[in-house]
Amino acid sequence: MAQKFQNLINGRWVDARSGQTFENRNPANWNEVIGTFPKSGKEDVDDAVKAARAAFEKWRLVPAPKRGDIMRKIGDLMVARKEEIAREMTREMGKVLAETRGDVQEGIDTAYYAATEGRRLFGHTVPSELPNKFAMALRVPIGVAGIITPWNFPMAIPTWKMFPAILSGNTCVFKPASDTPRTATMLVEIMNEAGLPPGVVNIVHGGGGEVGNAIVGHPDVDLISFTGSTGIGKGISRMAADTLKRVSLELGGKNAQIVMDDADLDLALDGVLWGAFGTTGQRCTATSRLILHEKVYDTFMSMLVARANALKLGDGLLPESQVGPCVNKGQRDTVASYVEIGLNEGAKLAAGGKIAADGALANGWFHQPTIFTDVTPGMRIAKEEIFGPVLSVIRTKDIGESIRILNDTIYGLSSSVYTRDINKAFQAIRDIQSGITYINAPTIGAEAHLPFGGVKQTGNGHREGGWTVYDFYTEWKAVYVDYSGSLQRAQIDNY
Ligand code: NAD
Ligand code: MN
Repeated sequence: MAQKFQNLINGRWVDARSGQTFENRNPANWNEVIGTFPKSGKEDVDDAVKAARAAFEKWRLVPAPKRGDIMRKIGDLMVARKEEIAREMTREMGKVLAETRGDVQEGIDTAYYAATEGRRLFGHTVPSELPNKFAMALRVPIGVAGIITPWNFPMAIPTWKMFPAILSGNTCVFKPASDTPRTATMLVEIMNEAGLPPGVVNIVHGGGGEVGNAIVGHPDVDLISFTGSTGIGKGISRMAADTLKRVSLELGGKNAQIVMDDADLDLALDGVLWGAFGTTGQRCTATSRLILHEKVYDTFMSMLVARANALKLGDGLLPESQVGPCVNKGQRDTVASYVEIGLNEGAKLAAGGKIAADGALANGWFHQPTIFTDVTPGMRIAKEEIFGPVLSVIRTKDIGESIRILNDTIYGLSSSVYTRDINKAFQAIRDIQSGITYINAPTIGAEAHLPFGGVKQTGNGHREGGWTVYDFYTEWKAVYVDYSGSLQRAQIDNY
């Protein structure tokens, strides 16, 4: 019998009111059921929002340093359970253990950052234009935060959102992706155990159409933080407009790595392999395009194809595996369909291109690491997010053209340039349209204390990470204290 998991609402573990459940399976071996989870609906969301609203009235009054103490405890518990969480995460979504350990570590970093922020949460004091008058601006919490997350970083992304939200004095209703409910449950177990009062964090499992929609539409939810696909993000933005919720959207990407003719080619090779095929290409920051200088094109391509063909596909729990499965059949089929699209558009397969289902891979959703050459910027494989192990290679002749090609997309999340020329590097930093730019490093590798997010249709202007995310989870309140004892009219009595 598969283990049965529950929602956490108001500090109690409960089934969906309907009693319905769904299964969570291992993408490396689809026969393995990890557990069953509540298939929740609107009524469960109502319960959770009610609990979060009631908890908010007390939680907002807890001193922020005290809230920070709980964050530190959460971090400590995550450290203690890091290996266990990483293994469960690999089992439910497939990426290799080294990467799931990194995913947990990002959550730990975010917890400790939040803990210290409890003693900061700086406001401003500013001079008043009038005598005997004091002026300041304070950060105040907003209320109930709806948290909706994808499956590719099942620990890091929920922590990026919930830790700053809760540290700032808000309460959360959390709906994780239905492909990764186990990691999300472990996170909430830890948050509960660390001493968060009942109702401060609530988890409601289930589908996007049911649970996600109910959260976004709920009149008593004040803000939504969503990470996922651009299409769903646009729908959320429209729906949230009805109640004028504050909405943070972190959406798709079509990231590129530029390799100039003066680059350290071995370094650039390690970078593109990690960027394109790490997490089986299922990262919002994955390297989906390689923009390669014509002078080093042939040399670099032969190095790249040899290394890509040698990558070892397999169950992420096995130490020899380098690339895990796609998260589910739908995602694997999407990858296969883009291979068809690329071939029909006239691109050439330089590596991979096939579903992998031989031997030990037979029961999983594996796809070979795949490289297309002769890709032109107008092709769909050069424009659309594939979210799988597919790299499109585009030939270029100089830095200016490379930057133009890189920018020729509706997205703008991450970017990378390999060059030894400082002038080209700074031109790229200035002209590339993306939220993150790496020099001589791959498109993946964000650190928890820097702003994370993208421009154009990758988002709506907010940033996660570091100090910047605290702007999303707080409102500014301007406060004036007049100690003159007389009516002083701003802009009138002083001019
Ligand atoms: P998705 O958009 O399918 O789902 C994301 C979440 O939204 C899930 O929890 C899902 O259940 C929920 N959802 C689905 N329909 C909904 C609806 N109508 N209302 C409310 N919620 C709904 O994305 P995914 O497949 O889980 O993740 C992959 C996508 O996420 C890719 O496009 C990737 O680029 C993006 N992503 C972006 C970032 C970033 O920071 N920019 C990070 C990771 C992933
Ligand atoms: Mn799963």
